[in-house]
Amino acid sequence: EPHGAHARDEAAPRRSRAASGDDLIVLENVNKHFGDFHALKDIDLRIPRGQVAIVVGPSGSGKSTLCRTINRLETIDDDGGRILLDGQPLPAEGKQLAQLRAEVGMVFQSFNLFAHKSILENVTLGPIKVKGKRKADAERHAMELLERVGVAQQAKKTPAQLSGGQQQRVAIARALAMEPKALLFDEPTSALDPEMVQEVLDVMVQLAEGGMTMVVVTHEMGFARKAGDRVVFMADGAILEDTDPESFFTAPQHERARDFLGKIL
Ligand code: ADP
Ligand code: MG
Repeated sequence: EPHGAHARDEAAPRRSRAASGDDLIVLENVNKHFGDFHALKDIDLRIPRGQVAIVVGPSGSGKSTLCRTINRLETIDDDGGRILLDGQPLPAEGKQLAQLRAEVGMVFQSFNLFAHKSILENVTLGPIKVKGKRKADAERHAMELLERVGVAQQAKKTPAQLSGGQQQRVAIARALAMEPKALLFDEPTSALDPEMVQEVLDVMVQLAEGGMTMVVVTHEMGFARKAGDRVVFMADGAILEDTDPESFFTAPQHERARDFLGKIL
């Protein structure tokens, strides 16, 4: 399968960067409680620049919480654990926090576009408000990005006039407009009609091949094998397995992982 082989060739330099110790995202001993409930348990995870890490696991295992802590939509327990982005601890508040959210873009299951703004405005708003870009520059860049994800024709429309797959591609363009260091995807295709899943995954494969650092919560195994450098398997708030996609899908080590794969395959 030529395209898959190409994708894997592309993955090789990403993996060799992994060996350089250039970690963009680092979680050390991260715990997260919601009241008495222990949602993240001693998470240690280092994501090298350019790596695509796939996060899988049963519902309720803490995948979304993990993503949300990385761009600080959730705080973590104050027990010595920490999260670093590009070597720096995550900022707590204020302007720096907005900056962090720009540097670590997030794409959600529900596209979260502004319903009353045009597609173009959805993409230019952040760069203008948060990054202080001039409107004309922001629009030029936004049109390039919309072109790249294949929805430039829709720029003047509102989100409701687009299909789910188109809206999710706009959400990706909007995240890219902030020129992020990394992108987090939380089940980006699970709310889509089946025929629209691939068009979104294709955009994500393009990003992966372009060297974007990505954390992707998804059960799309084809994508994981094609674009993923690594699969992180979570259950009950802990990382139980962390290996390459081929090993994970063909020879999972944990009983919980085997059980999980039995259900999704
Ligand atoms: P996943 O994304 O793997 O399905 P989540 O990270 O959404 O799992 O949730 C992990 C666990 O944490 C679940 O049991 C969920 O109910 C709980 N949880 C998540 N967010 C909150 C919250 N804001 N308050 C209380 N419990 C939460
Ligand atoms: Mg989730």
